[in-house]
Amino acid sequence: MKEQIAKIKEVSLVEISSASTLQELENIRVKYLGKKGELTAVLRGMGALSAEERPIIGSLVNLVKDSLEQEIDKKEQILKNEELLIKLSTENIDITEPSKKVELGSIHPLTQVIDEVKEIFLGMGYQVVDGPEIEKTYYVFDQLNTPVDHPARDLQDTFYITEDIVLRSQTSSVQIRTMENEKPPIKMICPGAVYRSDTVDATHSPVFHQIEGLVVDKNISMTDLKGTLEMFAKKCLGENTKIRFRPHHFPYTEPSAEVDVSCFVCGGKGCRVCKGEGWIELLGCGMVHPKVLENCGIDSKEYSGFAFGFGVERIAMAKFGIEDMRLLFENDVRFLKQF
Ligand SMILES: [Zn+2]
Repeated sequence: MKEQIAKIKEVSLVEISSASTLQELENIRVKYLGKKGELTAVLRGMGALSAEERPIIGSLVNLVKDSLEQEIDKKEQILKNEELLIKLSTENIDITEPSKKVELGSIHPLTQVIDEVKEIFLGMGYQVVDGPEIEKTYYVFDQLNTPVDHPARDLQDTFYITEDIVLRSQTSSVQIRTMENEKPPIKMICPGAVYRSDTVDATHSPVFHQIEGLVVDKNISMTDLKGTLEMFAKKCLGENTKIRFRPHHFPYTEPSAEVDVSCFVCGGKGCRVCKGEGWIELLGCGMVHPKVLENCGIDSKEYSGFAFGFGVERIAMAKFGIEDMRLLFENDVRFLKQF
């Protein structure tokens, strides 16, 4: 029996060392150490042995078993390394293969317009100022010469949080904050969201975006306002854009005007975008009311200023040919990725 065991050991060790794949090695393991393996069979046959022989043969079988297991483990490691090396040397990355498409977002049309307008005014030496959207009526109305009985303060138009705190209905509050905190000369724009209790339709939304501008310095006149807006219109809407002023009324500017631009789609001939008018209403503006300057501690005899404001949605819709304002807020990717 000892000879049989020695023979098994000898043969199996040769087989292990010559195994060339992990599968072959596994087959060898089963052949000798498996439930029906040769070494297992020897253990089973030990019943026929004498009581003296049994422990001797038993420990011999176990020794052989241990050494076979060790050799198989070693060989397994070697074969695994070889396989890895083969894999590394044969698997090349094909850089010409089409890649998985990564979906990139695009910049929202409103943000595009805001960024472009910022760029234009930064280029003219303006600073960009931010302010709170939840604002005191003091900044939204009182300081802007809009007394308590003014229709703009109506509960129907403005979202009131408390009696004297509202969701700002215009970004002019940021102009007031700036004038209260800074000495002229002031040149600033303030882009941001504003809120009015409008019912949603193709041209109205309870939240929309404004960009307002303010300049306060010595000897600022209507001519400066006109020149600034003309330059802005040309840069934003095209070199051939013309502007025209129409008299208007705002409580915080005097005189006040509304400004139209020549239609940048048809150039003034009349089309669907300008509804056949040849002109598109762009913004409201005027010379800052002396009372507003005085409210903010600026001497209106020494300083004067102009202010203007427009809706970002209106420009985005005209610029990109968007006919329904709701599209700008629905965040439908199929729509947004066109821009
Ligand atoms: Zn037109």
